[in-house]
Amino acid sequence: MTDQLSVDAVGVVPGDDAAETGRIDDALNRLGPVLQRFEDSQIPDGPAPYRPGTVPSELNALPAHGVGLDAVIDELSTAVEHGSRITVPGFSGFITTGATTVGVMAQTAVTVAGTQRYVLHAFNALEWTGLRWLAELCGLPAGVEGVFTSGGSTANLLALGAARQSAYERLGVDVAADGIPLTTRGRIYASQRVHHTVHRAAAVLGLGRNGVREIETDPDGRIDVEALDAALRADAAAGIVPIATVAVAGNTDLGSVDPIADVVAVARRYGSWVHVDGAYGLVANTAESLAPLFTGVEAADSWIVDPHKWLATGVGVGAVYVRDGALLTRAFAEGPAAYLEGAFSAVDEPQSMFDDMGGPWADQSVELSAPPRGVLVWAVLREIGRSGVRERVLRHAGFASDIAARARGDERLELLCGPHLSIVCFRYRPRRAGVDLDALNTRILERLRRETPFITSTTTVDGAVAIRPCFINPRTTQRDVDGLVDAVIRLGDELAAA
Ligand SMILES: *Cc1c(COP(=O)(O)O)cnc(C)c1O
Repeated sequence: MTDQLSVDAVGVVPGDDAAETGRIDDALNRLGPVLQRFEDSQIPDGPAPYRPGTVPSELNALPAHGVGLDAVIDELSTAVEHGSRITVPGFSGFITTGATTVGVMAQTAVTVAGTQRYVLHAFNALEWTGLRWLAELCGLPAGVEGVFTSGGSTANLLALGAARQSAYERLGVDVAADGIPLTTRGRIYASQRVHHTVHRAAAVLGLGRNGVREIETDPDGRIDVEALDAALRADAAAGIVPIATVAVAGNTDLGSVDPIADVVAVARRYGSWVHVDGAYGLVANTAESLAPLFTGVEAADSWIVDPHKWLATGVGVGAVYVRDGALLTRAFAEGPAAYLEGAFSAVDEPQSMFDDMGGPWADQSVELSAPPRGVLVWAVLREIGRSGVRERVLRHAGFASDIAARARGDERLELLCGPHLSIVCFRYRPRRAGVDLDALNTRILERLRRETPFITSTTTVDGAVAIRPCFINPRTTQRDVDGLVDAVIRLGDELAAA
């Protein structure tokens, strides 16, 4: 064993830190116009992609001596020019978008003045407000407790962790303390269209990916509740512990919403927790005309929603809610630690922002250090209100049904599924027979990406490759929607003629 190095030997190092800790105003003034120019440019695919191999070589070696703040801002400005074009109005791929201006501002303010969500400061107060507003917006019952997360993946993990804790506590086992008893097997029930972060959560929670029992769906991708009932019944007879049944409120492929009330009714028969994955769709419950799709949502035990999707806070903001917050704590508390005990005075009337914790979230999730992400949610909702969200959701749902109508009315297009929420699946179909439609539509998507401002992504419907726009981007306009369909037809005609 080597001797422990004594830090005493380092002695006193003279001089100030190499990092600039001032001039934020000046730096923002320099980067701000660069960012605005970037947002104003509608070119989806700017200069050639900036891959690890193409980064200028001088940026690839760890600098022995730093270049200083000004040079870094110049380099950041160059990176911005090569930045992610996911926010351009014509982008409708996956389920993702970027921050609107208020999100950028809130993120910046949080970075400077909202350090750590575990002490008492204004940003943690706003985090509480953001949590409550988001639950209200989504129609969750009063009294739910929640925590913001890095996104839907972590949110699903936390919800299913609380479900696992609950299921085993009912068998007399504290699974957070003692692990899953070797003599038991637990399962999660979810549709074949469930997001695969549920499988990953099952793996992390020791249930295994194969611990997710996938249930058949109807042609619109909604869970078949009779098949769910049969699976739960067969597993109950085999002594398998039902950990959770997932209802998807807006599935990622097709946008359809599982019949939540029916899922709840079946799950309850077998004593199963019900989890609603509303990462994408749950905010649509705030639009009265769409709310019937979410009937029964308030009867679940846990829910997730991703503000970084339809609310456009900027990526890195998810949220999980549970009916019984104490379960989250029992499942995820860090436990007593010398570096925390006694750190707070736990007085009734805190005199300092270090007298108490800003919230219990560090013990209800898998993160200790974390920013108060809810400030971004607060800021977005404060700016546009319920009506702004409702109008966005309905405008986007209208885009999807508009494409469906065009697909129904044009013999070169085929509507494959939907519209559901703001997703629609269609494909190009040439007049002449004998063409490989999957290959043709894959080529169309590739050319859309490379040649047009209309970039979208794909899924399969009954095995067929579908062009699948999902509209959540606040910048998208009717022109982009029309442009996408026009481009699909034009490219399809060209490719089919070749
Ligand atoms: C996007 C999504 C997720 C995963 O969320 P991330 O924020 O990407 O981690 C989970 N479930 C559904 C239904 C989703 O659409």
